Amino acid sequence: MSAQGLSTAHAPVLTRGGLRTVAADCVRPTDRSAPRHAFTVDVEDWYQSCVDFDAPINDRVVRNVDRILDMLSGTNVRGTFFVQGMVAEALPRMVEALVREGHEVQSHGYSHRPLNRMNQAALRDEVERAKKTVEDAAGTSVTAFRAQDFSVLGSNLWALETIAGVGFEIDSSIFPMQSARYGIGGWTLAPHHVILSGGMRLLEVPVAVWARGSLRVPVAGGGYFRVLPEAVLERAIRSVDTAGRPAVIYCHPYEFAPDELAGYPNLPWKLRVSQGLGRSRFEARMTKLLRNVPFGPLRDVLDAWSVR
Ligand SMILES: [Zn+2]
Repeated sequence: MSAQGLSTAHAPVLTRGGLRTVAADCVRPTDRSAPRHAFTVDVEDWYQSCVDFDAPINDRVVRNVDRILDMLSGTNVRGTFFVQGMVAEALPRMVEALVREGHEVQSHGYSHRPLNRMNQAALRDEVERAKKTVEDAAGTSVTAFRAQDFSVLGSNLWALETIAGVGFEIDSSIFPMQSARYGIGGWTLAPHHVILSGGMRLLEVPVAVWARGSLRVPVAGGGYFRVLPEAVLERAIRSVDTAGRPAVIYCHPYEFAPDELAGYPNLPWKLRVSQGLGRSRFEARMTKLLRNVPFGPLRDVLDAWSVR
């Protein structure tokens, strides 16, 4: 282990909401060329995922994903695409292209209906379909999962049993602070194992949160990511690194389409304001961040930090 590394091999087992967790080994990379932080995309169609779960998937997703692919090829970065199952079914050629271009393809649920409103049978069906649809389109094995709207909460931590039970090994579904819509206050920020029944375990890799004393700032994506001054955002990500954790950031294809909301004149104004905030500058902001900070796909980042 390097002198700079942080070994957590003998970390205590903690009990969280009835589950046991144990810190993962996590060693800061010494190789300057290694991707230290994960660039991830939740691939969904904004209208279907946020407004009407029964709406068909629109092929504007392809246009928006193309913008992301152009940005990634321009900055020489590869990423992890958590693809929603309904999107994989509707747009399999797009998913194939992601794999062909060297990106990692994983799962972002099937329907985008929140997991915390599902009973056990519905949840099992959801996550089985999530895995199969993306695997069928990608032609690769799908082993990492991110719940729609981070909908693994304190009230449905049992969902992790089902997620592991259908064959997922890595999970990024728990937002590790309480926010207005989701999250679990005080949850572990660094990668850790959740110990489940029957000897199963999941490697939980939360998205980036900047911790300053008792204050936690969600810098991984969403509103803060879009409106914080760029220098502050970059400092936050570097301070996650200094604290001994890889930063996992996330975005959505529609955030790269500043004019898309104009096509929906009847949206509630609150939704319009929250979704529209910072969108016009989003691509430029993300491009700059990718140039200044070494990002890569989640699998490579976990390897670089020797997470196990
Ligand atoms: Zn989503």
